[in-house]
Amino acid sequence: MTSHRQAGVKARPGFPARLGPIQTAVPPPPAVSRLASHRPAPAPTGLGMDSSAVRLSMVNKLAQQGISDKRVLAALGQVERHRFVDSALVNQAYEDTSLPIGLGQTISKPGVVSRMLELLLQGQTSRLGRVLEIGTGCGYQAALLSHVCSEVYSIERLRGLHDKARDNLRPFRLANVHLLFGDGMLGYAKGAPYAGIIAAAGGEALPTCWLDQLAVGGRLVAPVAAGAQSPGRQALVVVDKTPQGLRQTVMEAVHFVPLKSGIA
Ligand code: SAH
Repeated sequence: MTSHRQAGVKARPGFPARLGPIQTAVPPPPAVSRLASHRPAPAPTGLGMDSSAVRLSMVNKLAQQGISDKRVLAALGQVERHRFVDSALVNQAYEDTSLPIGLGQTISKPGVVSRMLELLLQGQTSRLGRVLEIGTGCGYQAALLSHVCSEVYSIERLRGLHDKARDNLRPFRLANVHLLFGDGMLGYAKGAPYAGIIAAAGGEALPTCWLDQLAVGGRLVAPVAAGAQSPGRQALVVVDKTPQGLRQTVMEAVHFVPLKSGIA
């Protein structure tokens, strides 16, 4: 992982003794990526084993709910979501719920994250190329993306969360994740064109620079305000950039934090 800001390193908070009631030794999911091979030694509490069982159960539920892309399910089975939330919330880390990550922001629900990743990968048989994520937050989705695409550029406008994501992601040693501190409404032209763009915050409209920075053949997945008829509502929007132009599909209703301009 590379970070485009240098700052003092904060210590990660310690972990509570265990995640939940499941304590049987279950083999971890198949090791298919560098994350597994570079995973730090399990916490002395045995948390690693506990978390793989509860994570597998989350993945099974997502599959039952209709997530079928094996690459997405494998990534969700590998990335330890409990490492991205505060220690007081660790017991809820594998529930299908969004959780506070500080500064008024939230880590997205696994169900929504997996749905968006599935849409991003739809129709791609080989590994997805470069992807831009707007809204790094705690870094969870960036870690998932690192498993399903070749390079991840993830941008966050809140310095505190950019720093938190960097600290959260450091132990995973994801060499293909690049964290950026800046206003994602401007995209990140230096990394363009992107095979995929995914936003974790919803604005009134899609910034045109996102569409400009999308490669032909690329896909954007983002929440957008549903419109004047439904104030305060958002819908998931998929935009495909085809040689003939842009093709937009409006999907289901979603609820994301607002996309804001500028940095703070
Ligand atoms: N993918 C994140 C979700 C974080 S919530 C995760 O896995 O945790 C969405 C994030 O988008 C928030 O951290 C918010 O600060 C950020 N955000 C909102 N507007 C933004 C903008 N213009 N540029 C970059 N980040 C933005």
